[in-house]
Amino acid sequence: MKNVLQGFLNVLYPPYCVLCGELLPMEEWENGICKGCEEKIPFLTGNRCKFCGRELEFGEVCHSCLENIPVFERGISTFYYEPLKDGIARFKFEGAKNDGKIFGRLMAEFMLSYHKEWIEEIDFITGVPLHAHKEKERGFNQADILCKIISEMTGIAYQKNILARTKATTPQSKLSAKERHENLRNVFTAKDCTDMRVLLVDDIFTTGATLNECSRALYREGAKKVEIFCLSVTE
Ligand SMILES: [Zn+2]
Ligand SMILES: [Zn+2]
Repeated sequence: MKNVLQGFLNVLYPPYCVLCGELLPMEEWENGICKGCEEKIPFLTGNRCKFCGRELEFGEVCHSCLENIPVFERGISTFYYEPLKDGIARFKFEGAKNDGKIFGRLMAEFMLSYHKEWIEEIDFITGVPLHAHKEKERGFNQADILCKIISEMTGIAYQKNILARTKATTPQSKLSAKERHENLRNVFTAKDCTDMRVLLVDDIFTTGATLNECSRALYREGAKKVEIFCLSVTE
């Protein structure tokens, strides 16, 4: 029965490789990525900016982060956004949750291969919240799907709804970098997280403004350390 249902879903949401967009042969549907990508998953593993995870030729912090030094301690991104653009759009706006699960699994694999220290050093993961109206409209929060899978695969606890977005705001994608920071002032609140080491998860790192404001809220509520883990970062 499950297979019949999956068959229908695959007609509605043709199974493309979430990493390169190529149509997948049936035997790779379950895995969600093509053989070529599987052989060399394009994880960001070189010398990276310590705040956003963009690869750098040299140095520790990229230009964009230097302009607005974030309050969080460190940020890691799993992939560059551009090649994943279509996959992320399907996941977020068309509700292709299965793609989200594949992304979550890849993030967990990345963590287990390259950032195992988090398993010891993080008390819980949590996601960037959507405004309640928006979550209702979309039916889910993409960060929530990523968090669930990462938690299942790494054993790190997932605390849902630690952060809340108290105001609806202009979509960040319509604003300049400076406006993005202004737009988010005091938008997020957090529950008590005294002495907690928090890993904050999101799908796209652009300027980091949203993640920064969420981190501020977590620190206000006593967090000892906030680190960022994103599915992707824009180039
Ligand atoms: Zn591929
Ligand atoms: Zn950076």
